[in-house]
Amino acid sequence: MLRLPGEVRACLFDMDGVLTNTATVHAEAWKRTFDAYLRDRLGPDAEPFDVERDYGTYVDGKKREDGVRDFLASRGIELPEGTPADGPDDDTVFGVGKRKNALVMELIDERGVDVYPGSVRFVDAAIAAGMAVAVVSSSANTDRILAAGGLADRFPIRVDGVRIAAEGIAGKPAPDSYLRGAELLGEPPGAAAVFEDALAGVAAGHAGGFAVTVGVDRHGEPEALRQAGADVVVSDLEELIG
Ligand SMILES: [Mg+2]
Repeated sequence: MLRLPGEVRACLFDMDGVLTNTATVHAEAWKRTFDAYLRDRLGPDAEPFDVERDYGTYVDGKKREDGVRDFLASRGIELPEGTPADGPDDDTVFGVGKRKNALVMELIDERGVDVYPGSVRFVDAAIAAGMAVAVVSSSANTDRILAAGGLADRFPIRVDGVRIAAEGIAGKPAPDSYLRGAELLGEPPGAAAVFEDALAGVAAGHAGGFAVTVGVDRHGEPEALRQAGADVVVSDLEELIG
């Protein structure tokens, strides 16, 4: 038994922060990357990246390049876009994104990937109930992180950062990546549930007209998720098994 609207036949899961406890790794990698950049550019008194405020507002859940651009714009900094071929030493949106990604990979190799047990129980209950499931993540490292967390077999269908770039899909908060996930599962948005921890992702679910957008509150801030468009807020997906 799942506590979801009766019309739901498909479940679309964000990965970082919903299935895997990797949001903290992303926040740390963003902070190290941005703080070094701000010090280089503005000097030692530059106001550092604030994980509490800046992470949720400017980068969480977004495509890497959108995160770089949106956070730096909040500090009045505009970088050339560059191209996906840029390296981590290039002072471009893609280059700064590469630095952050290299740090994420380092941290994940160092610490491994923890999954949320309540989320795994919920996913297994959903699959057992005959629901179609997919992962919809902005991360270009989705394959690697799902494998490291032991979740790869449960999610043959993925809309990840690689597919998003290849198909030219608009990133969250646009609903397009979630809509593509529903399409790949053969269900209309009205028969699909979205599970998200990020403000941008919840906004994507809300904008897509899904049967229900579930906000997963990992920081004790349910109101922010509701305001972004979550229909239901839980602190763990286990609460929806009942
Ligand atoms: Mg997330």
